[in-house]
Amino acid sequence: MSQPRSDSRKFHCTHQCPGRCGRSVANHLYACGRCWRKLPAQLQQAIRTTVGQPVLSPARTRAFTAAAAFYTSLPGAGDQAVCRR
Ligand SMILES: [Zn+2]
Repeated sequence: MSQPRSDSRKFHCTHQCPGRCGRSVANHLYACGRCWRKLPAQLQQAIRTTVGQPVLSPARTRAFTAAAAFYTSLPGAGDQAVCRR
Protein backbone atom coordinates (compact mmCIF):
# COMPACT_ATOMS: atom_id res chain seq x y z
CA MET A 1 0.00 0.00 0.00
CA SER A 2 1.64 3.17 -1.17
CA GLN A 3 -1.34 5.44 -0.79
CA PRO A 4 -0.57 8.42 1.46
CA ARG A 5 -2.64 8.80 4.57
CA SER A 6 -5.21 11.50 4.00
CA ASP A 7 -5.32 12.55 7.63
CA SER A 8 -1.75 13.83 7.39
CA ARG A 9 -3.21 16.79 5.51
CA LYS A 10 -5.53 17.73 8.30
CA PHE A 11 -3.32 20.44 9.75
CA HIS A 12 -1.21 20.84 6.66
CA CYS A 13 -1.06 24.62 6.71
CA THR A 14 -2.54 27.23 8.95
CA HIS A 15 -2.65 30.99 9.05
CA GLN A 16 -3.44 33.44 11.76
CA CYS A 17 -7.11 34.25 12.06
CA PRO A 18 -7.81 37.64 10.42
CA GLY A 19 -10.18 38.44 13.28
CA ARG A 20 -7.11 39.06 15.47
CA CYS A 21 -8.22 36.55 18.07
CA GLY A 22 -4.78 34.96 18.02
CA ARG A 23 -5.96 31.56 16.84
CA SER A 24 -4.51 29.54 14.02
CA VAL A 25 -6.94 28.65 11.28
CA ALA A 26 -6.62 25.94 8.64
CA ASN A 27 -5.85 27.45 5.28
CA HIS A 28 -9.06 26.26 3.69
CA LEU A 29 -11.00 28.40 6.15
CA TYR A 30 -11.00 32.16 6.10
CA ALA A 31 -11.37 32.70 9.84
CA CYS A 32 -12.09 30.74 13.00
CA GLY A 33 -15.74 29.95 13.71
CA ARG A 34 -16.04 32.69 16.27
CA CYS A 35 -14.72 35.44 14.04
CA TRP A 36 -16.53 34.06 11.01
CA ARG A 37 -19.84 34.56 12.78
CA LYS A 38 -18.98 38.20 13.41
CA LEU A 39 -18.86 38.84 9.69
CA PRO A 40 -22.01 40.29 8.16
CA ALA A 41 -23.84 37.77 5.97
CA GLN A 42 -22.99 39.83 2.93
CA LEU A 43 -19.25 39.46 3.52
CA GLN A 44 -19.59 35.76 4.37
CA GLN A 45 -21.40 35.23 1.10
CA ALA A 46 -18.78 37.15 -0.84
CA ILE A 47 -16.05 34.89 0.54
CA ARG A 48 -18.08 31.72 0.04
CA THR A 49 -18.51 32.45 -3.64
CA THR A 50 -14.74 32.62 -4.08
CA VAL A 51 -14.10 29.12 -2.74
CA GLY A 52 -12.13 27.22 -5.34
CA GLN A 53 -11.01 30.32 -7.17
CA PRO A 54 -7.32 31.11 -7.62
CA VAL A 55 -5.85 32.76 -4.54
CA LEU A 56 -5.18 36.01 -6.34
CA SER A 57 -8.39 36.24 -8.33
CA PRO A 58 -9.89 39.76 -8.24
CA ALA A 59 -13.16 38.64 -6.62
CA ARG A 60 -11.34 36.77 -3.90
CA THR A 61 -8.94 39.58 -3.21
CA ARG A 62 -11.85 42.00 -2.99
CA ALA A 63 -13.87 39.77 -0.66
CA PHE A 64 -10.91 39.12 1.63
CA THR A 65 -9.93 42.77 1.70
CA ALA A 66 -13.47 43.80 2.60
CA ALA A 67 -13.62 41.22 5.41
CA ALA A 68 -10.23 42.29 6.76
CA ALA A 69 -11.41 45.91 6.75
CA PHE A 70 -14.47 44.87 8.70
CA TYR A 71 -12.39 43.18 11.38
CA THR A 72 -10.15 46.22 11.58
CA SER A 73 -13.19 48.42 12.14
CA LEU A 74 -14.45 46.35 15.05
CA PRO A 75 -14.08 47.89 18.50
CA GLY A 76 -11.27 46.19 20.35
CA ALA A 77 -9.76 44.80 17.17
CA GLY A 78 -6.47 46.51 17.91
CA ASP A 79 -4.21 46.05 20.87
CA GLN A 80 -6.34 48.25 23.07
CA ALA A 81 -10.03 48.88 22.92
CA VAL A 82 -10.94 52.50 22.51
CA CYS A 83 -12.22 53.94 25.76
CA ARG A 84 -15.46 55.83 25.47
CA ARG A 85 -17.38 57.56 28.16
ZN1 LIG B 1 -10.68 34.25 15.05
